[in-house]
Amino acid sequence: MICDACSKPIQGAEGYLWIDNDQINAVLKAVAEWHRQHTLADSPRPGAKMFSAADLFDYPEEVKWQAHHHTCDPKQDANAYSIQANRIDTWPELLGWTAHSWKRAGSPTPTGTTSSAASTAGNAASS
Ligand SMILES: [Zn+2]
Repeated sequence: MICDACSKPIQGAEGYLWIDNDQINAVLKAVAEWHRQHTLADSPRPGAKMFSAADLFDYPEEVKWQAHHHTCDPKQDANAYSIQANRIDTWPELLGWTAHSWKRAGSPTPTGTTSSAASTAGNAASS
């Protein structure tokens, strides 16, 4: 993992990977707004979109993970979700952490089957 500020490697607990929760919320809002503005209200096909190539340049950018040493972090007081560098060893782990952080940011996740299975198990245990 390389620090975005000083371009030197980050070892163990020297730094972390982080993502700005405020930025995530802003992008989610901007994406919803973009879709609202480009959805045809009077189209026979619900949710039909109408936009030009130029409009796509307005499409909100996704939020990027950033890597910094503790001392290099330009936004130390950001509403950030961070992961210590020594907790990330493999990409599969990072992807798991990403999914976890998006869940924390309030994105909908398909947990319906899991929770109904859990409540069924709970009922069986109590009766
Ligand atoms: Zn650095």
